[in-house]
Amino acid sequence: ADRFITPLATPVEEVNDRAIRPRLLADYEGQPAVREQMEIFIHAARAREEALDHTLIFGPPGLGKTTLANIIAHEMGSQIKTTSGPVLEKAGDLAALLTNLEAGDVLFIDEIHRLSPNVEEVLYPAMEDYQLDIMIGEGPAARSIKLDLPPFTLVGATTRAGLLTSPLRDRFGIVQRLEYYSIGDLTGIVMRSGLLSGTDVDEEGAREIARRARGTPRIANRLLRRARDFAEVKGDGCITKAIADLALNMLNVDERGLDHMDRRLLLAMIEKFGGGPVGVDSLAAAISEERDTIEDVLEPYLIQQGFIMRTPRGRIVTDHAYVHFGLERAD
Ligand code: ADP
Repeated sequence: ADRFITPLATPVEEVNDRAIRPRLLADYEGQPAVREQMEIFIHAARAREEALDHTLIFGPPGLGKTTLANIIAHEMGSQIKTTSGPVLEKAGDLAALLTNLEAGDVLFIDEIHRLSPNVEEVLYPAMEDYQLDIMIGEGPAARSIKLDLPPFTLVGATTRAGLLTSPLRDRFGIVQRLEYYSIGDLTGIVMRSGLLSGTDVDEEGAREIARRARGTPRIANRLLRRARDFAEVKGDGCITKAIADLALNMLNVDERGLDHMDRRLLLAMIEKFGGGPVGVDSLAAAISEERDTIEDVLEPYLIQQGFIMRTPRGRIVTDHAYVHFGLERAD
């Protein structure tokens, strides 16, 4: 964890999050299109007393997929069971979860693109007909059993929709894509988190944190906690713009919210590949980073902010990035 702004949650954060994680759709900031649609779908399903359609949520880490899954269960008045793709090693692991569901329950599978094929196969009839169809035993004694499952809602989360097999993707009735949050929405999230965690932060301080949080609520909340330490030790306890600025500079988060990994990636593209085009594998090797991290975490934000562009021949650095570093493009 040499990367401060990694959007993946740490165990300490899991605990802190309980106080600030929104539980109602009304408290879910931003994502207006997602919220509006989910409100209608949930309302309709509740009125019909049916389970909500299976829902796929995709977007970069830390944008609120788990939060939304929990809100869905809460708003449906049902229980949520949580697991993840890599945890479900065998078909039987999934079968055990499915047979423990009650009518209307939400089964949340994070990183659903990482299900193994034989586990995924169990999911198809379960999603389609609420049927469990599984082989037990081995060799000549093996037999297939079928069981009826209660109606349930599968909520799947993934970083990129393109990672799913199409038979799996096709079985979701609702597909929601989360976008990076605006500075205004993130300011609201920081103010709310401040209030709920007893952290004194003024509007300008909240905005400064929001500006530099890579459009990501988890990062905004994390920066808020670090700025709070700073305010208590170096200031009078209140996170002002000046305190936030000092804290973020010390944490090596620049004024555009880029951290040293972002800068390393961009500078490698500029210095080692003449600004590109460069393929993701060459880049991964050049900065000793995993390809997945580049594609799921680093690149989407840099593309959204206009520092990188994807072309058919590979990634290229934009003029915008050269300006950011005060560099000239070499001819
Ligand atoms: P993901 O599952 O996409 O990695 P999470 O759902 O764990 O992200 O969100 C990370 C944290 O950010 C949550 O604990 C929550 O406190 C906060 N958060 C996410 N989305 C929102 C939102 N729309 N409004 C307010 N807080 C949010």
